[in-house]
Amino acid sequence: MSSAAESLSALTGLIDSGGVRVIDLTQPLEESTPVISLPEQVGKNSPGFSKTVVSNFDADGPAWAWNALHMGEHCGTHFDSPNHWITGREHQTGGPATIPPEKFIAPAVVIDVSAKVAKDADYLMTVQDVLDFEAEHGRIEDGALVLMRTDWSKRTDPAAFLNDGHCPGPSVEVMKFLAEERQTRGFGVEQVGTDAGQAGMFDPPFPAHHYMHLKNRYGLASLTNLDQLPPKGAVVIAAPLKIVGGSGSPLRVLALAPAA
Ligand code: MN
Repeated sequence: MSSAAESLSALTGLIDSGGVRVIDLTQPLEESTPVISLPEQVGKNSPGFSKTVVSNFDADGPAWAWNALHMGEHCGTHFDSPNHWITGREHQTGGPATIPPEKFIAPAVVIDVSAKVAKDADYLMTVQDVLDFEAEHGRIEDGALVLMRTDWSKRTDPAAFLNDGHCPGPSVEVMKFLAEERQTRGFGVEQVGTDAGQAGMFDPPFPAHHYMHLKNRYGLASLTNLDQLPPKGAVVIAAPLKIVGGSGSPLRVLALAPAA
């Protein structure tokens, strides 16, 4: 067997034996799933999740059940593709159907700012937070997916989760840094969007979107269970639906991590 074949066989064996844990970073997708709410003067809002029954073992389909879904692409745990943003709209490989699939699998770097967020719901992750992480755990490797741990996903009440637009996120400077000074693959958060609740007033506005999508990197929003990941060493699989002409999609995000 080639060494790649041996590694893959070892991986599936470790998943079976529990030596590698599979951690679900996905929130449940249901009618109550919170979605971002833009002020009227900013733009039109995107619909939340709903489903209608096509048949449920009844006259419309006696032996089968299935539903029809309706939702915005950016609903629940979801993927922001680079073409979602005006700075990334020209990327030829920036859509959910055009991003090369190997980009959907990445080593994760988990930067924990949850203690700061506990004291300040509008906390902005700084360049210093990243440098402090690197001083302890080493430099962010090329191709890494940077995850901002806030424990915000523990807010199970949708109103507390949206918090009237007061949610943590990254600063302008840290997104410029992660986009330009590190070869990151993407940026993921636990909040409803990759940017802070107040980021519409930043310069540039919505810096996670502005800088990451400009560089053809992607975003992940409404993640959960980041507190179960090691700072380094996990691998995340985040593959959006292959929506032609899309801007992102809800998705199942899985992490593989060594058992503690
Ligand atoms: Mn989004």
